[in-house]
Amino acid sequence: MTTTRVLVASRNAKKLKELRRILAEARIETVEVVGLDEVDPYPEAPETGATFEDNALLKAREGARYTGLPTVADDSGIEVDALNGMPGVLSARWSGGHGDDTANLELLLGQLRDVPAERRGAAFVSTCALVDPVSGDEIVVRGTWPGAVATAPVGDGGFGYDPIFLPEGESGSAAQLRPEEKDAVSHRGRALRELIATELFTRLAGGA
Ligand code: IMP
Repeated sequence: MTTTRVLVASRNAKKLKELRRILAEARIETVEVVGLDEVDPYPEAPETGATFEDNALLKAREGARYTGLPTVADDSGIEVDALNGMPGVLSARWSGGHGDDTANLELLLGQLRDVPAERRGAAFVSTCALVDPVSGDEIVVRGTWPGAVATAPVGDGGFGYDPIFLPEGESGSAAQLRPEEKDAVSHRGRALRELIATELFTRLAGGA
């Protein structure tokens, strides 16, 4: 059986773990997932896009161009209704530095301190892009996961804002879900499963 190597261009170890898990769960045996640490290093541009879609495409195009491999990239974040959709694309660096999960969620909790339960609506968003360096074909899809922002962190699973995200239809926070429970309903699970079902992914996975 011939396999197609697909680069998953993410530096966020926990996010990468989720992406790998969701792809593994889909049992696409013709695809071998390759991480950034398994390819020659290349210069990575900062995520300067105005939208999740822009950033996901930027990362996937860059990976495809430098490695010659079909590349999947995810750009994601949390959109809070009471903040007019912010932090949005700024989710990873909401408190200033990049990727300080605790500082980011503490800042968000502080900003929403006086916001009542009925106005604490929010959604996680994941956009997943796939770029094929050979044909130049590309696609980007979006998955959302609706819920609300809690008043205090609960649970120690997941990453990022999971301890303060109360998914619709669940009794606790996203950080209290088992990994497979999160994947089944999360923004990333939804986006990636939609990506896997596209004609482009199917074509690449089939080696055509
Ligand atoms: P990115 O790496 O630029 O896509 O930034 C994503 C940021 O959004 C992360 O740093 C997290 O703070 C947040 N985020 C995205 N997906 C999730 C999730 O599944 N759970 C919790 N936080 C998330």
